[in-house]
Amino acid sequence: MASSSHLDWPFLEPRHKTLALELEQWAGRVLSPEAHPHSVSAVDDACRKLVRQLGEGGWLKYAIGGTAYGASADTIDTRAICLIRETLARHSGLADFAFAMQGLGSGAISNFGTHEQKQRYLPCVAQGSAIAAFAISEPDAGSDVAALECAAKEDGGSYVINGEKTWISNGGIADFYIVFARTGEEPGARGISAFIVDSDAPGLEIAERIEVMAPHPLARLVFKDCRIPVAQRLGSPGQGFKIAMSTLDIFRSSVAAAALGFARRALHEALSRSTARKMFGQTLADFQLTQAKLAKMATDVDSAALLTYRAAWLKDMGQPVTVEAAMAKMTATETAQQAIDSAVQLFGALGVVSEQTVERLYREIRPLRIYEGATEVQQLIIARGIIKAHQASEDRRE
Ligand SMILES: Cc1cc2nc3c(=O)[nH]c(=O)nc-3n(C[C@H](O)[C@H](O)[C@H](O)COP(=O)(O)OP(=O)(O)OC[C@H]3O[C@@H](n4cnc5c(N)ncnc54)[C@H](O)[C@@H]3O)c2cc1C
Repeated sequence: MASSSHLDWPFLEPRHKTLALELEQWAGRVLSPEAHPHSVSAVDDACRKLVRQLGEGGWLKYAIGGTAYGASADTIDTRAICLIRETLARHSGLADFAFAMQGLGSGAISNFGTHEQKQRYLPCVAQGSAIAAFAISEPDAGSDVAALECAAKEDGGSYVINGEKTWISNGGIADFYIVFARTGEEPGARGISAFIVDSDAPGLEIAERIEVMAPHPLARLVFKDCRIPVAQRLGSPGQGFKIAMSTLDIFRSSVAAAALGFARRALHEALSRSTARKMFGQTLADFQLTQAKLAKMATDVDSAALLTYRAAWLKDMGQPVTVEAAMAKMTATETAQQAIDSAVQLFGALGVVSEQTVERLYREIRPLRIYEGATEVQQLIIARGIIKAHQASEDRRE
């Protein structure tokens, strides 16, 4: 269901509305509402195909920054990537994933790469001929990501990387990984650097493929004396944590947008089913208990949309967005989970049949409450931000 009304909100410009409507048409034509592919190789093939199709459709131009490298604009348009993710998620979780990872996996190059690095990687990302990945998490460094231990040591004209990364989306099919490793300039977050590691770099191994409830390529990577040229470092030594956080700052609002897309689809499915399903001499939608559910779903969808596009708009205006993006990500993912659960309930037994749309959405939404900062991490970010702002305003009054 295309909700045209939110495209007229003042957060968005006419070009955003055009983009969303064109993508809606493309998605309806090109994306088949196929069931989740189940084997690892089928998931890999489906993802590769989607990346290619998104490239051919011209949508990946929005995932990168820099018109000289094939982007739609010189800086990433956060509202555009949110609209794209929302629309794709409504049609296909895997298509949304394929788009999102091209952006997240190359965002550090768009924002911190040298001309040579941009020239080498970004056009291929935009065309869909190279698959990108973002590798920061480790078995003992997830939420506490500054505790990462994977290390890179400079040795002549190279860096030698040793360690492990896990839960890496596109792991196994990516052509390159943005890897965050400890270079030790200072302890903690200030001693991390970012690198572009090609998938055929000697010493990089896909140690394990991980199968998850909503199938997509995911892997554990092992680096054993993996040698890469110094020219593959992004930014300055010790700047890696800042690079990671500023990349996540752009894409965090887009996770909210994906959740919004899943929730909108759940609401559409719930409306279709409850208005058609006959029981007790009327339809399911005629009962006030059902109407309460539908009303809550619709209100949650709009709240999530308002928070999402506010955060995206602020980012595009060059404003600090840490608190607002955290509010959007937390609210959109949590309420989408509830909305989808309500949709499953309204479908009755049909709602738990494998590969029914609402059953698929039920599995699809779950990881969004965990990755790119779990809900609890977003709560802490929001609280920290508002406490700091309160203290600053008190100090100004004194
Ligand atoms: C499907 C999927 C795809 C992913 N893709 C990538 C990827 O491409 N690249 C990448 O680098 N990583 C990726 N990740 C990893 C993801 O970022 C981590 O899973 C996430 O940061 C949480 O880390 P963890 O799993 O180690 O959980 P932990 O850090 O062990 O946290 C467990 C739970 O503890 C709670 N918690 C956390 N902090 C606090 C706190 N301060 N107070 C109270 N409770 C807290 C939260 O509920 C959290 O879910 C992916 C994960 C998933 C599930």
